[in-house]
Amino acid sequence: MTTAIYPGSFDPAHNGHIDIATRASKVFDQLVVAVYEEPPKGVLFSTAERVEILSESVKGLPNIRVMSFTSLVPRFARQVGADFVVRGLRAGLDFETEFEMALMWRNLDPEIDVVCFMSALEYQFVYASRIKEVAQLGGDVRGLVPPPVAEKLTAKFDRVS
Ligand code: ADP
Repeated sequence: MTTAIYPGSFDPAHNGHIDIATRASKVFDQLVVAVYEEPPKGVLFSTAERVEILSESVKGLPNIRVMSFTSLVPRFARQVGADFVVRGLRAGLDFETEFEMALMWRNLDPEIDVVCFMSALEYQFVYASRIKEVAQLGGDVRGLVPPPVAEKLTAKFDRVS
């Protein structure tokens, strides 16, 4: 049985992330979407919120589990019996970042391989940071994020404005 993890901040999950998870779930027997609890860049959504949003968004895909993690990515992969790490690539800057990160993970654990999936054309420009910025300024992000995310963003920014 092939198992992969798909790690990220997912702050919040958007349709680009769901697209990659859906594609990967067709290739691997089991996919663990792994929510990084404390990314250095800081988060708007708590770990519990990020896990809940993702779980709700992939509930139609029975071979996907959503978990949170704090350790190094290759170490977490080993913990859940995964030999592969899934990442998504948008056009432009992602390749350099992902390549550099994949080599660091390989340095930590040479047996774990990174498998990258290309983003769908319509999500090439979708970045979690941009979504938060647009939502904070009152812009409409429906269509780029799963429905509960748009509501939660509105609620969060209404509360602080
Ligand atoms: P981001 O803040 O870039 O959305 P994450 O850490 O949550 O970041 O991303 C997790 C993984 O998902 C990374 O491999 C990232 O390249 C990928 N990803 C992010 N956005 C997209 C997208 N729109 N299409 C495809 N992959 C994406």
